[in-house]
Amino acid sequence: MIIQPRTRGFICLTAHPDGALQNVKNQIEYVKSKGAIKNGPKSVLVIGASTGFGLSSRIATAFGSGAATIGVFFEKPASEGKLGTAGWYNSAAFEKEAHEAGLYAKSINGDAFSDEVKRQTIDLIKQDLGQVDLVVYSLASPRRTHPKTGVVHSSVLKPIGKPYTNKTVDFHTGIVSEVTIAPVENDEDILNTIAVMGGEDWKFWIQDLKAAGALADGVKTVAYSYIGPELTFPIYRNGTIGKAKNDLEATVPVLDDLLKDLNGKSYVSVNKALVTQSSSAIPVVPLYISLLYKVMKAKGTHEGTIEQMQRLLAERLYTENGTVPVDSEGRIRIDDWEMADDVQAEVAQLWKETTTENLSQISDIEGYRKEFFNLFGFEVDGIDYEKEANENVQVPSIES
Ligand code: NAD
Repeated sequence: MIIQPRTRGFICLTAHPDGALQNVKNQIEYVKSKGAIKNGPKSVLVIGASTGFGLSSRIATAFGSGAATIGVFFEKPASEGKLGTAGWYNSAAFEKEAHEAGLYAKSINGDAFSDEVKRQTIDLIKQDLGQVDLVVYSLASPRRTHPKTGVVHSSVLKPIGKPYTNKTVDFHTGIVSEVTIAPVENDEDILNTIAVMGGEDWKFWIQDLKAAGALADGVKTVAYSYIGPELTFPIYRNGTIGKAKNDLEATVPVLDDLLKDLNGKSYVSVNKALVTQSSSAIPVVPLYISLLYKVMKAKGTHEGTIEQMQRLLAERLYTENGTVPVDSEGRIRIDDWEMADDVQAEVAQLWKETTTENLSQISDIEGYRKEFFNLFGFEVDGIDYEKEANENVQVPSIES
């Protein structure tokens, strides 16, 4: 099949398996170029393993630390004449590369919020690995069916208290406009967003894994958060999603208590703003990312998900002397280069100046757009998109 991108707003409806394979290979090459991560994890569970930070966490632990990995994700499988989602093709590519390198890699495709997928994952860990020594929690989802109540919670991206007006960009057209986002009307939206993106499900995973004896002595678990600049505070850190991130961060002491007798430790890592399927859905943020990329690329400090995750492992979670550097609130800060004063001052200045007319000069909107298509395996260097591609690519460990 000839596969071309088909977009609807910030969603791309198609995905290219050959581009996905090339993306995964590029990430693997990067990790290998950085050398082995000393004292790194050996058996890793990644929840949300098929795209974005989760996929890169899986690649970095497997190829940087020789880890056996089990990946959990929720993706549409490919079949004859039917395209799979990008995360499906990424996972097929990852397993293929991992197996060729002699690494254990199996995957589970299903709803990670459900008790059933937790059980299935734990059974697989017990059967094949015995225990895991790192659990990465990297889910990003618009909704969650609560496993105990059956209630379906939908998250919203809204400010709290008053409307928020700022610039935003349509990254397909390059048109900069002003957007006003109405605040939440009641606490329900906040509570629902916390239910989806907060820490409860992370806690359920750790509780179940522990109860089953599936966590190794000295186990670590990490989940991802974001803070960002003041200009996005109303829509991000002080908005509904920020409340969920507060809840996620407040789960750390609860998990630490749970892991105490295993000499285990939990962390939240605050990561950099990057183009992923999730971040492209947030108003205002794509324009901020376009300016941020421009500034960080000029300074030589730009990173993608794989650079971030390699640094998180090698320079934070598994340092040579065993200490994990954290901020005053106990969080790992791998957003340090994004939040550097000089970077933020330049972005803030450019933000004021940005118009549709000067967008392509003062921002990296082209880089944003290319990365967005790259997420779906398009515009990847070295791939001939006029050529027939085999759409029916399977994830080796998943029986179809
Ligand atoms: P992403 O959309 O690329 O990845 C989400 C993953 O979750 C995918 O593997 C998907 O299959 C999986 N998933 C979603 N719903 C699922 C379900 N019900 N069951 C099983 N798997 C499911 O997202 P991302 O941007 O990599 O985000 C991962 C985490 O990193 C989130 O907590 C996000 O808030 C955080 N983060 C993102 C950014 C950013 O700029 N993108 C910055 C800092 C922190």
